[in-house]
Amino acid sequence: MSCEEEELRTEIKDAEKLHGHLGPFLVIGVRMGIVAKKIGKGSRLRATVKVPLLTPFSCVIDGIQSTTKCTIGNQKLKTENSPKDMTARFNLQDQNKIVAIRVNLLTVEELTNKISEHASMEELAWKVAKMPESQLFTIKTQ
Ligand SMILES: [Zn+2]
Repeated sequence: MSCEEEELRTEIKDAEKLHGHLGPFLVIGVRMGIVAKKIGKGSRLRATVKVPLLTPFSCVIDGIQSTTKCTIGNQKLKTENSPKDMTARFNLQDQNKIVAIRVNLLTVEELTNKISEHASMEELAWKVAKMPESQLFTIKTQ
């Protein structure tokens, strides 16, 4: 296992502990958090997470809280409801930069379909863990 795969696995396990179960949208949140930390290179972060505020989509929020330590409780994370779009905007405070990570809607639709067909949530979670970043996200830095 590569170093990055190892890190991802550990982050996913930690998020599962916080969240109570494992699923594909939790892993999407974990991967968003890892991208933000990678681009931020140690910068302090604040996050605004815009997702449909219902499960399984809102599971993304806990993936982000677990990896970035931007939480509702410490006021470094805000949530916004959205009908469909799933975007996390990270303010990299020490770099004066904003990173917007948008989940590709086709991926969301595919996952939603598989969930409605009663696919295993854990299997979908590990599938998302292995997806190439470019298939999962559109990332913009401002
Ligand atoms: Zn969940």
